[in-house]
Amino acid sequence: QPSAPLARAESLILEIPDYPSPGILFRDITPLLADGDALRATVDALLAPFAGTFDVVAGLEARGFLLASAAAYASGTGLMPIRKSGKLPRPAAAMAYALEYGTAEIEAHADFPAGTRVLVIDDVLATGGTLAAARELLTGLGYAIAGTAVLFEIDGLGGREALGDPALHTVFSS
Ligand code: AMP
Repeated sequence: QPSAPLARAESLILEIPDYPSPGILFRDITPLLADGDALRATVDALLAPFAGTFDVVAGLEARGFLLASAAAYASGTGLMPIRKSGKLPRPAAAMAYALEYGTAEIEAHADFPAGTRVLVIDDVLATGGTLAAARELLTGLGYAIAGTAVLFEIDGLGGREALGDPALHTVFSS
């Protein structure tokens, strides 16, 4: 049974049909972010299984940044932004991955020692391509994945299977 603020948080995720393209049901978390109690309950729920198991929180651009930043602050760890390509000012490790049409690339600076335990956070798990690429990027840098925490899991797209992370934790799903 979710807490009242967590149940409220779930009700604040809006479903927007046909955005950004026809056939996509977009999960809009901005009303959840706007509610202080819901936001706090959500960040606490993202972190709940992972207390003491990670050294840094990685967030995926862009909505993952919002949650990862709060999670890093709440747990007293550092923050690692995983950016879309071409945005980082210093040489960075890159990982390409497939989209429905074409490819995308994410990048991160190698600012942590090998073996650093990373908790990876994003807002939505759909096909799992983005988080699988993040995982590959981070392990390629010599880091250890402490787990993956996602606010909303879309069932039926195979994301959980594609990611293959035994420590995948999702707060809401449909
Ligand atoms: P995927 O790589 O297919 O798992 O897609 C995950 C990434 O795309 C996340 O960074 C999400 O922010 C975004 N995303 C994919 N599908 C949706 C959706 N239906 N609603 C909101 N964001 C989505």
